[in-house]
Amino acid sequence: MFVVLLGAPGSGKGTQAKIVSAELGLLHLSTGDLFRAAVRERTPLGMLVQDYLDRGELVPDSVTVAMVREALSRQGLMRGVILDGFPRTLAQAQALDAALEETGKRIDLAIYLDVKDSVLIARLDSRWHCPNCNAVYGAGENAPLKRGTCDRCGGQLTQRSDDRPDVVRARLDEYFRKTVPVIEYYRQRGVLREVNGDQSVKDVASEIVAAVEETLAQAHR
Ligand code: AMP
Repeated sequence: MFVVLLGAPGSGKGTQAKIVSAELGLLHLSTGDLFRAAVRERTPLGMLVQDYLDRGELVPDSVTVAMVREALSRQGLMRGVILDGFPRTLAQAQALDAALEETGKRIDLAIYLDVKDSVLIARLDSRWHCPNCNAVYGAGENAPLKRGTCDRCGGQLTQRSDDRPDVVRARLDEYFRKTVPVIEYYRQRGVLREVNGDQSVKDVASEIVAAVEETLAQAHR
């Protein structure tokens, strides 16, 4: 089962991928998390990609595709994978199809989290992140119980450097120019499901879980 989670920065991909992968026993593969870990650990990949992340630009396809291929080849005996933040360009989507085809697999489902632009910007502005366990917090129902402290591990929350307003603008620009065509790519393949991402975290997660289970049931028919 290969599921792609599509949506703008701030649409809730990371939050949803964590919940849904845990619930369904799927591997959660986030390219953003992999890049941030590489930057933090100062690996050669981290050195190479840091400037792109700082500017809110997409990392070149060749680097991103090689990283995802490597991560997928390390994948154990999971029931499947949820890809969060990949593919983000048509070239990445095509490279992913080619890589999966080599092992007789394919993308079964692409979920597009549809969220209004004004909501995206407000969410990114109030987003806090735990560098220790990767938990993500926002405003309202998603706020941490104690301001500045991670509910899960007690770590000190920080704001992602690429959630600054100027970098957010660059990330949204990249999204509209390069990632929106990927939504159409999956629609034409007949695997796209649109989910209203303006709902509560719980309701969005339930819709995604239902879509994955329906797709699994169809595959077994
Ligand atoms: P995210 O955490 O998904 O918002 O990703 C953070 C940053 O990592 C992006 O702004 C890009 O610089 C980089 N990145 C993540 N995924 C990709 C991708 N599929 N292609 C290129 N760059 C990516």
